[in-house]
Amino acid sequence: MTHLFRRTFLTALLFAAQTAWAAPSTAADTLDTWCNDLGKRLRSVNASDCRKRNFQIAPERTSGQRALVWQDIAAAPQKGATHGKTPRVLVIGGIHGDELTSVSIVFRWLNWIDEAAPRRYHWRIIPLANPDGLYQRPPTRGNLQGVDLNRNFSTPDWEKDAHTYWQNRTRSDPRRYPGQSAGSEIETQWLQKQIETFSPDMIISVHAPYNLLDYDGPSPHPLRFGRLALNRLGVYPGSLGNYAGLHKNLPVVTIELPHATSMPTLREQRAMWDDMLRWMEKNLHGIRGN
Ligand SMILES: [Zn+2]
Repeated sequence: MTHLFRRTFLTALLFAAQTAWAAPSTAADTLDTWCNDLGKRLRSVNASDCRKRNFQIAPERTSGQRALVWQDIAAAPQKGATHGKTPRVLVIGGIHGDELTSVSIVFRWLNWIDEAAPRRYHWRIIPLANPDGLYQRPPTRGNLQGVDLNRNFSTPDWEKDAHTYWQNRTRSDPRRYPGQSAGSEIETQWLQKQIETFSPDMIISVHAPYNLLDYDGPSPHPLRFGRLALNRLGVYPGSLGNYAGLHKNLPVVTIELPHATSMPTLREQRAMWDDMLRWMEKNLHGIRGN
């Protein structure tokens, strides 16, 4: 093979690959795929209901070329005089790919979000923050790079503490690898951007299977949602609670469901949801000032 021929061949190959990657795919196609894949992966998600929702797709893709998806649900117009702005609530499910229930419960909440009490908030719902982890067989906590996204947020202490903590406190547990640098991962960068642009007054992050409620941020903290009782786990370098709760002073509620692969009873799910809304009602209104 002559040098020129080899170069032409490689250029042609590269062009073909780029064309394949840029194959025309509409947003609707991408969302259909996203819903169909999720419907196959999680029994709790009905693909056709999912396709009817008004999900939006981020321009970013994960390294596994999966879409990052969210839905905004605006508050209903409120009767009578309301003081202050509508509180904004960001919900994040599936940041750990092997915590399947943390995605399922967000879809359950989407069914309840049209009721009167939740319609007092402007919601941004991210049902699945780590799609690459969820679709691994078996699913993984980290993303495709093996990074624990919930240790990869750009907390101010990251460079100093994240790797030391990982080595000394977790004995270099690969499930808790914080990444090469703060905010190194596409998914984390995207979540940080969501926090910046949506500017939430509260973040709800769903996990499993520790069966408790955790909280970072300003007082007062919640005590109990359904059977989940407050049990503060502490703060980790690069965690969302550290990033948004401690450093941005936002209320960050972490819901740790009792199991990663089987859902609490419907009654229990409802009790959690109702208690959460009661806490929000008490603590979020008026938070944005008059
Ligand atoms: Zn988790």
